[in-house]
Amino acid sequence: MSSSGFASQNGAGATYANGLSQNPVALYPSNQGYMTPPQPGYLNAMPAKAPTPPAPSCYNPSRQQPSPVAMSQHPLSLPSSPNHRPALVPPAHTPPLTNSFYQQHPQQPPRWPPPAVNHASPALISTPQQPYSTGTSTPLVFQNTMQSPAPLPPYSALNNTHMPAPALNIVAPHTHHSFGKPPAALRGTPPPSGPPPPLVTHNDGPYSAQPGAMNRLMGTAYPSLQPAYQSVPTPQKPPHMQPAAQPYSTAAAPQYQQPTVSAAQLGPSLAALNLQSQMPEALRVVNLLQERSLLPPGAVTPPTPCLPQDLQRLNCSPEVFRCTLTSIPQTQTLLNKAKLPLGLLLHPFKDLSQLPVVTSSTIVRCRSCRTYINPFVSFLDQRRWKCNLCYRVNDVPEEFMYNPVSRSYGEPHKRPEVQNATIEFIAPSEYMLRPPQPAVYLFVLDVSHNAVETGYLDVVCQSLLDNLNSLPGDARTKIGFITFDSTIHFYNLQEGLSQPQMLIVSDIEDVFLPTPDSLLVNLSECKELVQDLLRSLPQMFSKTMETQSALGPALQGAFKLLSPTGGRVSVFQTQLPAVGAGALKPREEPSQRAAVKDVQHLSPATDFYKKLALDCSGQQIAVDLFLLSAQYCDLASLGCISRYSAGCVYYYPSYHNHHNPSQTERFQKDFKRYLTRKIGFEAVMRIRCTKGLSIHTFHGNFFVRSTDLLSLPNVNPDAGFAVQMSIEENLLDMQVVSFQAALLYTSSKGERRIRVHTLCLPVVSSLSDIFAGADVQAVTALLASMAVDRSVSASLSDARDALTNAAIDSLTSYRTSVLTIQQPGLLSPACLCLFPLYILALLKYKAFRTGTSARLDERVFAMCQLKYQPLAYLMLMVHPALYRVDNMTDEGALNINERTVPQPRVLQLTVEKLSGDGAFLMDHGTVLYLWIGRNCSPTFLTQVLGVQSYAAVPQNMKQLPELDTTESSRIRAFIDWLREQRPFYPILHIIKDESELKAEFMHNMTEDRTESALSYYEFLLHLQQQISK
Ligand SMILES: [Zn+2]
Repeated sequence: MSSSGFASQNGAGATYANGLSQNPVALYPSNQGYMTPPQPGYLNAMPAKAPTPPAPSCYNPSRQQPSPVAMSQHPLSLPSSPNHRPALVPPAHTPPLTNSFYQQHPQQPPRWPPPAVNHASPALISTPQQPYSTGTSTPLVFQNTMQSPAPLPPYSALNNTHMPAPALNIVAPHTHHSFGKPPAALRGTPPPSGPPPPLVTHNDGPYSAQPGAMNRLMGTAYPSLQPAYQSVPTPQKPPHMQPAAQPYSTAAAPQYQQPTVSAAQLGPSLAALNLQSQMPEALRVVNLLQERSLLPPGAVTPPTPCLPQDLQRLNCSPEVFRCTLTSIPQTQTLLNKAKLPLGLLLHPFKDLSQLPVVTSSTIVRCRSCRTYINPFVSFLDQRRWKCNLCYRVNDVPEEFMYNPVSRSYGEPHKRPEVQNATIEFIAPSEYMLRPPQPAVYLFVLDVSHNAVETGYLDVVCQSLLDNLNSLPGDARTKIGFITFDSTIHFYNLQEGLSQPQMLIVSDIEDVFLPTPDSLLVNLSECKELVQDLLRSLPQMFSKTMETQSALGPALQGAFKLLSPTGGRVSVFQTQLPAVGAGALKPREEPSQRAAVKDVQHLSPATDFYKKLALDCSGQQIAVDLFLLSAQYCDLASLGCISRYSAGCVYYYPSYHNHHNPSQTERFQKDFKRYLTRKIGFEAVMRIRCTKGLSIHTFHGNFFVRSTDLLSLPNVNPDAGFAVQMSIEENLLDMQVVSFQAALLYTSSKGERRIRVHTLCLPVVSSLSDIFAGADVQAVTALLASMAVDRSVSASLSDARDALTNAAIDSLTSYRTSVLTIQQPGLLSPACLCLFPLYILALLKYKAFRTGTSARLDERVFAMCQLKYQPLAYLMLMVHPALYRVDNMTDEGALNINERTVPQPRVLQLTVEKLSGDGAFLMDHGTVLYLWIGRNCSPTFLTQVLGVQSYAAVPQNMKQLPELDTTESSRIRAFIDWLREQRPFYPILHIIKDESELKAEFMHNMTEDRTESALSYYEFLLHLQQQISK
């Protein structure tokens, strides 16, 4: 994440051209930017047109054939449990699981214990508690049989009442149970004295390549391809060790460098330790029932693909392009066995601080599959390159022989296209079906009584006035306005008029354009009229008594107006549209909001909005929907207008300028970002992958035009996409595969551009390697999108079951097929240890939760977010980050632009982590909560909040005063830093125990039990029961 926030516009990086004259200086202005690795000195300059013949070794034809590489064998045997605790669950073979995302059996009854109903609302007490006592050596005993109810362990003395939980059958021999740091006796036996034998042997361990293989090259002396099977952690990412969290400690590994001692020479426990230690950190066995503190202190980082360093150095940033499995299974059978979803997550138009841009009359692409040349192709010689997707050998065009970076000829492998996995091309004319259209913005505003009453018009008009000059575009930019209630109003803004002219179309059955040529006007030529209109609009309707909303006809008018050019429609709607085409009826029954089982009406009531959206898509029009409403608006139906036209949806429930100022503030900030962010028009995105892989389902907002082509009338930097993939042909003789996303768009300045991202990943043949490469956040995000689809196509309960089963199935597969020595507990590889927690967080997320009141529109919006938000933002919405902020120090702080940003540790989402004498910040993505404990230190109250006592903290406080104290600047710097890292503006709510919002805050405590959902620990027990069946 760039520390510079989202202000920087793309394309600011160097532009590469082919002629010497167009290719001035610093091509890599800074090595701090995105994907611009430090460049070597270009020492190989060659005389123009006189390439030196390459050294023979570089052209060894044998290198073109990937030779077999010894597959690593993972010694996954584990030391048996050192403390001989009672066998918990006999490892039984799990029957094939159903109702997963992989095998659909919707009729399968849910495998879920009935939720406990008793619940005491969380009450916080003021002293820090240690409910997970770490001092006892008594292990928990779990019993799987259905016996008499036993009391739940008092695993939170703070908030959870101890209620019978018959479904769980926990036998607690003592009142305290250890989930945290196990006592020493439970952990791996340390060596009696002195340093242990070497634990990690990078060079000759079972995970390293065969001698000689390291030097095998893929093509010429270009990106060398080493075996893709290095399961050792890459040197840049040493295993993150937390001794307290490791029952089988391997933490000592890096410190001791002794000659290898064979396992046979060691005592049995040391041998076991040695074997264990050779496992990559990702595969370290974690007993989830024992290890409580699984969250890393900071952000969860994506796994690094096991590629040779020189390939990985060039790989696409995971912020832009990542895969659920960073090691691709060789066969679909193997993938099925892993029970993990295979898919890509993309943030293709993300704001980048550095982006190489190439101007070239020839864009080099594969003649067969049209793949853009990229860092992972191989050069057979200077004149030929082999496509990494279809393996066709292509000629290197003459023009490509010139390298604008070194300004020399004969080094095609050093061209920016071959050195950057993310690059942008300025496209020549063959990439245009018609001349690039100007930026066109149409605003469609609800002016019914209900809408005017909220006051939103003032905000929209004022923001537009403030940002009119910042709208992306050029001298050709066009703008127009439509307002509507039960009729449609167009505005003639033609140059020369003394004031804007309103034209009312009352025949909403057959909307026509009253003066087709003067409704969309050139912004720079007609700016004064536009400003006049924006200044007068809020007053024009202030006395309106019109209550009806003819949204459908207004959208039809917008479609007609923009059809010739395409462009962006921004619609503001505040109520259920009730007249004309697309009229809707209320479907939500408030009594059903807290349904324990299924939720109705998640799918659209009419196909009007989808059909219109597809018409819009065909004319390069995207429709963005701003829903500002206190009432039910049927977002499930309305949202289709944005979903299929590649628009976006914003939702501000209970919006009102006076009654809900925090929503207003959020809307203002979001709208400013919306108006000024980069935009691409007339876009298509194509995703290609290496032969054998196939893309089958897309998630996000778009229209699928052909199997791999998405139609995106608009593309914006805040949109995310996901795709599911399958393996159609075995990838047996491949070491790596590649994925390429190419986004062709018209910039707001009328340039046709292509942004290309290429991701390269290793292919593996063993299940353990697949698990080792699993990206838990990407897996969670893809499953979330799949679950949204399932909720609509089948039912919410079906989707919930499938989510739970995804965790059960993958952990079962791991247990039965990867672990060679069975041991008790709920076992997960370290890389997936957060998986059950994330699944539980999804089940409690507004989109999928049951039993608690969730308005239908809010639920549908949460589902839209899961499909649309890029991964990083999505994860915060699903699993917020909690920090203690009353005792922050500068230890480990970041220094950004001479500002010190403290980095407090991320805490588990449980009230146990709260204490009444502290202050805690929860980052929920779009909202920040600052909870103040009742006994919060006077220092914090005075130095940060500027009040003398807890009682004096005002209700509904939304801002921290700018006090001239260290504490104040520290926390403000931290909050500012959090806000800068996302394109939307999270509102801060400062809450106390009495605050209305406390319930929301508490609801995000994923690990705690709620009235209708299991606690994390109960959920783990449920998983364990299912896995052990
Ligand atoms: Zn190709």
